[in-house]
Amino acid sequence: MKITKVETVRNRDPIPLPEPWLPAWSAPGGTPATSFGFSFHRVYTDEGIVGLGPNTGASADMLLGIDPFTVGEFWYRHMSGGRPGRSGRRAAGLEIALWDIVGKAAQTPIAKLLGSRRDRIPVYAATSRLLETAAHIEQAKEVAGLGFKAVKLRLHRANPWDDVRVVEAVREAVGDDLLLMVDANQNNTSPGYEFWSHQTAMRIARELDALRVYFLEEPLPREDIRGLAEIAEAIDTFVAGGEHSSTAYDFREHLAQGAYDVVQPDVTLMGNMGIIGLRKVADMADASRRLIIPHVTGGGTFPFYLAATLHAMATVDNCPMVEYPYDPPVLTPETLQVPVAVPLCTDDDGCVAVPDGPGLGLELDEELMASGVVIETVE
Ligand SMILES: [Mg+2]
Repeated sequence: MKITKVETVRNRDPIPLPEPWLPAWSAPGGTPATSFGFSFHRVYTDEGIVGLGPNTGASADMLLGIDPFTVGEFWYRHMSGGRPGRSGRRAAGLEIALWDIVGKAAQTPIAKLLGSRRDRIPVYAATSRLLETAAHIEQAKEVAGLGFKAVKLRLHRANPWDDVRVVEAVREAVGDDLLLMVDANQNNTSPGYEFWSHQTAMRIARELDALRVYFLEEPLPREDIRGLAEIAEAIDTFVAGGEHSSTAYDFREHLAQGAYDVVQPDVTLMGNMGIIGLRKVADMADASRRLIIPHVTGGGTFPFYLAATLHAMATVDNCPMVEYPYDPPVLTPETLQVPVAVPLCTDDDGCVAVPDGPGLGLELDEELMASGVVIETVE
């Protein structure tokens, strides 16, 4: 089988948000977003099979002429990052499209091709904003009512002790039925963003530990491997991180030094992880008796990211859950999953089913594709 043509499909009209959105990881004074967009590839073959993958920035002509069944060779050549000159092409979206074609050729979901051990995966509700305490309590109760078993709050108010007070109030309101996790976003790169000192991170970490927080994400920048390891050693709450790691091998030192109890690779965010990379990180973490809870990027292309992550994580033992952006009224299936006909939603147990159709198992909204998109073609 050979790839003959690749289309890059984008939204024609912006996807409006119900209200302006300023996530907590924006620098103070940042500009709120008012719309989302999406961008993905449709990859054609000489056998009539068409694959889908998110657009992560690599030029689509990289795929022309190759056999989709050589996806392993594609990963090593363009994404491994293990050798000089072989990374930096942001090819994860193309790798995902190759897997979609392989699955469709075999008429099998990717998870089953790779050896699945489950058909649904717990997810946690990842909220995005700094709200008043009462609003956080209300939201935590709402997500618990929807079936979620875990919710993530954002930290980094101007005074970090205010963060602790919010977590304390939410814990008191929801008891221990809901897992609470927090993200300090201390690997942020926004200009003007304020960072915690090591001493602040350690003191806040001890307070969160006392509040039985499940994981503390990015209490320090990812380069501070020793500082992260000291916090992980000092508290029972898991230290989590790794969404900005560009290749699977970026996790080696963090695992060797005990910097992360939970690794959080993202299938596409930094461009070169892909399904193969996610599974490698899971195996590396497993060898160190650590957990993997993948980061999943939001925005209008989200269903492609989530589907690829679910297929990879259906095959491993050490992934207790996957991130699921949920922060109504802005982060909902209605804003995040516009290009697909059947959104990937949670069930009453806070799980998302691994799509059971061939390949990624995503179906496009054909009405939208017929009239509401812009298409660029290379062949
Ligand atoms: Mg994060």
